Amino acid sequence: MSDFDNKVKELEAAVRNIPDFPKPGIQFKDITPILKDPGLFHLSVELLATPFFGEEIDAVVGIDARGFIFASGVALKLNTGFVPIRKAGKLPYFTLEESYDLEYGSNTIAIHQDALEKGSRVVLVDDLLATGGTAVAAIKLLQSLGVEVMGVSFLIELGFLNARMKFPETGEIRSLINYVSE
Ligand code: AMP
Repeated sequence: MSDFDNKVKELEAAVRNIPDFPKPGIQFKDITPILKDPGLFHLSVELLATPFFGEEIDAVVGIDARGFIFASGVALKLNTGFVPIRKAGKLPYFTLEESYDLEYGSNTIAIHQDALEKGSRVVLVDDLLATGGTAVAAIKLLQSLGVEVMGVSFLIELGFLNARMKFPETGEIRSLINYVSE
């Protein structure tokens, strides 16, 4: 097994599965054990940032709320700014909004209209890819701003939900931990 695979295994071993949260049938992937361990937290951010070392990236965009934790770490690693995509009603200035279905419920997300310069090159980061609704809505917001999405990175992908099929034309989609079955 490669060094990379071993590191990912370390992260995967720390993810805690909580059955039936927040409602019956959902296997919730709890990442707080990674966050509380300085070595694992650092490793997760390092591995998410690595594909972009040496690339020209203007900002790292994170999705409310757990995405913020990893995206801000990646932004610091890449020496870029951080831009939040938040749940609707949370950003104080003029926003663009996009609605989508979630694995549990539905949601609307928003970005500040002036968050990014047209033509800027960004990386989108979130904690987990499930149905893809959130990430696809986020990419739509970024594309509406005329931004180039250079990559979309997740700590965890629920690969068995086949969300990648729903993605619009965008930069490479990466995940560190991939669950191929439930
Ligand atoms: P989706 O739009 O279905 O891809 O859902 C993605 C968002 O919902 C992520 O930002 C996750 O934080 C959260 N989420 C969805 N399903 C799960 C799950 N099984 N475990 C933990 N978080 C989840």
